[in-house]
Parts: sequence; C-alpha cells; structure tokens
Amino acid sequence: MKIKHLCLLSLTCLAGQSIAATYIHTGQLISAADTKVLKKMTVIVDGNKILDVKSGYLQPGENDQLIDMRSGTLMPGLMDMHTHLSSQQGPGSYMERFTLNEADYALKGVDFARKTLRAGFTTVRNLGDGYNETVALRNAINNGIIQGPRIYTSAKSIATTGGHADPSNGRAKQLMGDPGPADGVVNGEAEARKAVRQRYKDGADLIKITATGGVLSVAKSGQNPQFMQDELEAIVATAKDYGMKVAVHAHGKEGMKRAIQAGVNSIEHGTYMDAEVIKLMKKHGTYYVPTVMAGEWVAEKAKIDGFFPALVRPKAAAIGPLMQDTFSRAYKAGVKIAFGTDSGVSAHGDNGREFALMVEAGMPAVEAIRSATFHGAELLGISDQVGTVESGKLADLVGVQGDPLQDISLLSHISFVMKDGEIVKQ
Ligand SMILES: [Zn+2]
Repeated sequence: MKIKHLCLLSLTCLAGQSIAATYIHTGQLISAADTKVLKKMTVIVDGNKILDVKSGYLQPGENDQLIDMRSGTLMPGLMDMHTHLSSQQGPGSYMERFTLNEADYALKGVDFARKTLRAGFTTVRNLGDGYNETVALRNAINNGIIQGPRIYTSAKSIATTGGHADPSNGRAKQLMGDPGPADGVVNGEAEARKAVRQRYKDGADLIKITATGGVLSVAKSGQNPQFMQDELEAIVATAKDYGMKVAVHAHGKEGMKRAIQAGVNSIEHGTYMDAEVIKLMKKHGTYYVPTVMAGEWVAEKAKIDGFFPALVRPKAAAIGPLMQDTFSRAYKAGVKIAFGTDSGVSAHGDNGREFALMVEAGMPAVEAIRSATFHGAELLGISDQVGTVESGKLADLVGVQGDPLQDISLLSHISFVMKDGEIVKQ
C-alpha cells in the first residue's frame, strides 16, 4: 500500500496548504450496503466524510493525496458490539479488584482502545466496566486526547443481588457490603428505574443488564434467570424514556425469554437459545450478539488447573464449547446477528478472530463482514452515519491486502485504518 502525496510537487502545498481530498484506489470494495463486491473502485474522502464512491480508478487533483490499495480490499470500519475496554482476563484477574484502583482501569483502557482501533474496529459498544471509566475513555477519544474507537458505553452493568455483575460476588462477608443501584445492583422495579436513571446521569449511552448467571462471576449458576419480569419491564421502559437501548447478557433460556418479551434490543452470548427462543427473537426483531470467541477462550482456559476459581471452572467448561453451535443454528434460522467478541475476556486487538469462527460455523464471509458493519450500525441506531461505504457517511474505512472472502483470516491482519477521515494505520 503506497501513499503518494501529489501535493508535495506543488508550490501551494509547500506554502502549507492542506490536502484537499483523499482518493483511495481499491481492487475490491465491500460497501456492506448489500452483499455485492465491486471491483476497481475509487473512494473519495473529504474531511471526515465519504464524498463519493466511483467505478474505476479516478485521478486525484494536484492537491489531493492518493492511497493505492489496488491489490487489496476496502470495507467500512469494523464494529464490535461487545467489548470491555478497561480490563483483560488473565490468571491474576480475580485479585485485581482488591489491588487496582479506578485510575488503573482507566489507563489500561487507553492501551486497549488503541489496540482495538488498530485492529480495524472503529466503533464499539462497551458493555460493562467497574467505575464508569469507559465514559471518561469515550470522552477522551471524542476530544482527540487519545486514540481509540467510537465508544458507546453502558458504563457499569446492572445486576441483581448475587447476580452476574454484582461486584461483591465471591468476597468474604466483611468485604461484601450491600451494593445498590448506583453500583449496578437492583432488586425490584423502583431500584431498577433508579439504576437506569443513574447511568443516564453518569453519561452512559445505553444500558447493559445481566439477565442470567454468567461464566466468569464467582457464583454457582451460569444460566439461571436473575431478573423478574417486572424488573425487566421497568428497565426497558425507563431506558426508552432516556433514549437508551438495552443490551442483555444471557446464557439460560428462561432469562432470555423474559428479556425478549420485555422488549430489549440485543441478547449477548445466548448460549442455550433453542427453537422457541429463536422464534421469539425473530418475532420481536431482537438482535443476537454471539461472542463465539469468548466461548472458545473460556473452554480453553478451563483445561488449565488453577486458572479459574473452583466455582467458575465447570461453568467455563460446560458453556464455552456450546456457543459456536448456537450461533450456527441462530444464523440458519434467520435471527438478526451483530458481530461481538466480548474482548476483555480474550485479548484486545484479537477481535478479528471472531470472523473465522463465524465462517467456520456456516456464515458466508460477506455476511460476517456485514454483521460487523451494516448490522452493528443498525443495532446502535446510527445507520445514517456509519456501517457502509456510501457518500455522505463518516469516513471510517479499513483495508486488507488480498481478498478476505477467499481467506477470512485476513481480517485479523487489517493493514489500513481510517477513522473519521484520519489515517490511523497504513
Ligand atoms: Zn461481556
């Protein structure tokens, strides 16, 4: 990939005139607006927007810059609908809550956000942090202080007492305290409403709840329902009032059914989804965010003695290996799918691995790419700004050498990243 600054040849440029427009010549274009692949295209970027998309290799003007990707494929910036940018699992993770402070998580987030962007993910949803540090992370990125993806954050997840994302799970009694709505722990409708309103006040963009048990929390069940119907309905109705969508962590069937019926926007993980749940999701138009690589990661680590606490290990071994099959069934049944990795379980920057697992499970490569672009934008409700390569959209673009439709693993090696019209990696 070569960049030619035609500008350098001109006297006006030497006097400091800025580049007028960027012309990108690409051998293949996957616009993601549909499943078509266009050959020999020019994408013209002006400022932070896509100005035009033209057939053939158009010649730039003398003040323009040219990016030569004729041997590669250009796509919209990738979108990961499930990340945890301020942490990353490792053998020592369960001690960190006793040894790290809020600032430590915030600074980890700076590194992980940069890695995520450089892996080609220009937009993410952050579904759960410890201290609302991803609100600050989002703001620092939006203000140009640090480099990272556009973040839509739920801030601290909402759970019930002892539920997945109750931050005091597994602690000695004298260290448990009694966390409440501000900490993301609720019981009953009034507390559920309060927790949503608190997140609005804290600067969250959306709401994340944990409708069933989870794998990594120090608690016995990985799949029991953990919210009552009235609590779920209170959360959805309150979130709607504040213009926020609701993302739902769920492995077990009953918790998924209740949440879908309450009108949530997405089911995350969805491990024990069966035909009845699939039918319900299609009826309500609920999105499914599969996170297959998180399943692969926990199943792998469950084989290592001592990696997980004793309560976590059997859950990881049982739930992890099922997720790819769930994804395969849901895709074939026609459930709407938005790409998500749960990165922060697996390492940040490895997000592209999810594509290979999706294709292995039967999804065509171009559909996998659309799940991480077009569908991510639709789930977030920002299809008018991002998710496709079309004139008028924000200039979030990524490129790879070669053809990812022939070799999906190329999406783990993104060689060109542009976010908001600025080149981040080339
Ligand atoms: Zn997660």
